[in-house]
Amino acid sequence: MSSATAKKVVTVIPGDGIGPECVDATKRIIAASGAPIEWEEHHAGASVFRQGVASGVPMDTIESIHKTRCVLKGPLETPVGFGEKSANVTLRKLFETYANIRPARELPGITTPYSGRGIDLVVVRENVEDLYAGIEHMQTPGVAQCLKLISRKGCEKISRLAFEFARSEGRKSVACATKSNIMKLTEGMFKRTFEEVAKEYPDIESYHIIIDNCCHQLVKKPEQFDVIVTTNMNGDIMSDLTSALVGGLGFAPSANIGNDVAIFEAVHGSAPKYAGKNVINPTAVLLSGVMMLRHLGYFTQADAIEHAVLVTLESGKITRDIKGDNNGALGTVEYTDAVISNLGKLSAKWSVREHKPLKLPQVSKNPVFVTPKTRRVVGVDVFMESPLFPEQLGPSVETLLEGSGFKLKLIANRGTRVYPAGGNITDCNDQYRARCFAVAPDANVTDAQIMDVVNRIATKHSWAHIEKLQEFDGVMAFTKAQGED
Ligand code: NAP
Repeated sequence: MSSATAKKVVTVIPGDGIGPECVDATKRIIAASGAPIEWEEHHAGASVFRQGVASGVPMDTIESIHKTRCVLKGPLETPVGFGEKSANVTLRKLFETYANIRPARELPGITTPYSGRGIDLVVVRENVEDLYAGIEHMQTPGVAQCLKLISRKGCEKISRLAFEFARSEGRKSVACATKSNIMKLTEGMFKRTFEEVAKEYPDIESYHIIIDNCCHQLVKKPEQFDVIVTTNMNGDIMSDLTSALVGGLGFAPSANIGNDVAIFEAVHGSAPKYAGKNVINPTAVLLSGVMMLRHLGYFTQADAIEHAVLVTLESGKITRDIKGDNNGALGTVEYTDAVISNLGKLSAKWSVREHKPLKLPQVSKNPVFVTPKTRRVVGVDVFMESPLFPEQLGPSVETLLEGSGFKLKLIANRGTRVYPAGGNITDCNDQYRARCFAVAPDANVTDAQIMDVVNRIATKHSWAHIEKLQEFDGVMAFTKAQGED
C-alpha cells in the first residue's frame, strides 16, 4: 500500500474487443479524480496469441507485472484455434491471485426485479484451486476425469481473506457456501477450515450454507447476504448469478488478489460485436478501477469516483445496454464525460461504504503446511479399463491377488460398488476401480508392495491410474464407495 499522495505505477492491459474502450474510459476518470497513477501499457490475449505466444501472455507483460504488482485489465479473448488455455486463467495462476472478489450492489436507475431491496453483497471466490486447476485425463476412450484439488493452505488463505475483507468494508457476516455434504474431503476441508478460521473473527457473524440452498436463497432473498466465501467453480457460477441480480455484466467489477500481485478486471468478456462502436457500458471496468484505487490506498479518489457514478446513474444518464436504442442512451465516451463532470458531487440518497485497508492474510510459504503425527498406507485403489462385467472382473482380480498379502475389498464403477454385487442397478462403463487392502490389520504398505499389486493386475487388465489409501492421525484419508460397508 502506498500513501495517498505517492505516485504509483500500474500495468494496464487494454485487452480485446470492447476492452480498450472500457479501459480508456476508466483511465480518463481516474486521471480526472486526481489519483496519481502512472500507467505502463502491455498486452495479452488475442493479438498475442496471433503472434504465436502460446500462453497469450508475453514476457514483457509478465516482467512489468512483477515490477508493478498491480494490474488493470480489459477482457481478453481466447481466439478459437490459438492455444488451449485462457490468457485470463494464465495471468491469475502465474501470479497466484488466489482470491477473486466480486461485489454486487444495487445501483440507482438500474431497474431489476430486485430493485428497492438493497442488495449489497460480495462473493469471495477461491481462484486457483478446485476443478479449475484444469487437471483432466481421459482414463479410457469413453470416461473422462477432472481432478478437484483443494488444499488446507488454500482454504485457510481464502477464509482469512473473506473475514479481512468483511472487516475492511465494515461488513457484518460471512457465509461459507460449499457442497461438503457430498464431497466430504474437498468441500468438507473448505468448510472445516472456514469454521476454524472464523473463531479468530468473533466480531463477524459466520455460518455455513450448502451451495444449492445458497443459490436458492440468492434468488429468493438476496438482501440477507453480506460476504459469501466459496470454492472456485461454485464461486464462478454464483457470482454471475449475483451480477444479474443488480443489472448484469455492465456493472460487475472484480479484483483478483494475491500476496504479491493484484489484478483488477470486469467480470464481462470482450463482447466483440460491440468493439469500437462507442456503445458499451464501461462501469464494470471503472468500478474495478475503484477497487484498485482502494487497494493502492487512494481512498478519497475511489470514493469520489463511486459517488460520481451514483450521481450520474441517478440522473438517468447511462449507456445502451440499460436504456436500449432510441431512448436517449449515452455513448461510452459521453457517459465517461458525464461521470467526470459529476466528480465532487455526492448523491443525496445513495451512500458509499467506508473502507479501511485490506489486511492480507499471512500464511507460511512453506510447501509442507500440515504434518500429521502418524500416517499409514493401508491399501491401494487401482483404476482400470476393462470390457468385462463386474461379475467377471471381480473374481479375475481376486485370483491375481492370491498370495500378495492384499485382498480385493470391492470393485466400483463411477463411485458405486458393483462387486461383490449389492442389489444395485448400475449401468457400467469400461472404467473400474479395484479397492485393495493389506490383509495384515496394522500393515503400513510399502511402495514396492503397491507396485506388486499393480503389476499383478496388469498381467490381465489395463490399469490407468492408482491412488494410495492412507490414514493420517488414525483417520481414514479417503471416502467409501457408494454401497461400501
Ligand atoms: P461477454 O463478452 O461478456 O458478452 C456477453 C454479452 O454481455 C454481450 O453480448 C452483451 O450483451 C453483454 N455485455 C458484456 N459486457 C458489456 C458491456 N461492458 N456493456 C454492455 N453490454 C455488455 O461474453 P462472451 O460473448 O461469452 O465472451 C466474449 C469473449 O470474451 C470470449 O472470447 C470469452 O472467452 C472472453 N471472456 C473474457 C473474460 C475476461 O477477460 N475476464 C471474461 C468472460 C469472457 P448483449 O448481447 O445482450 O447486448
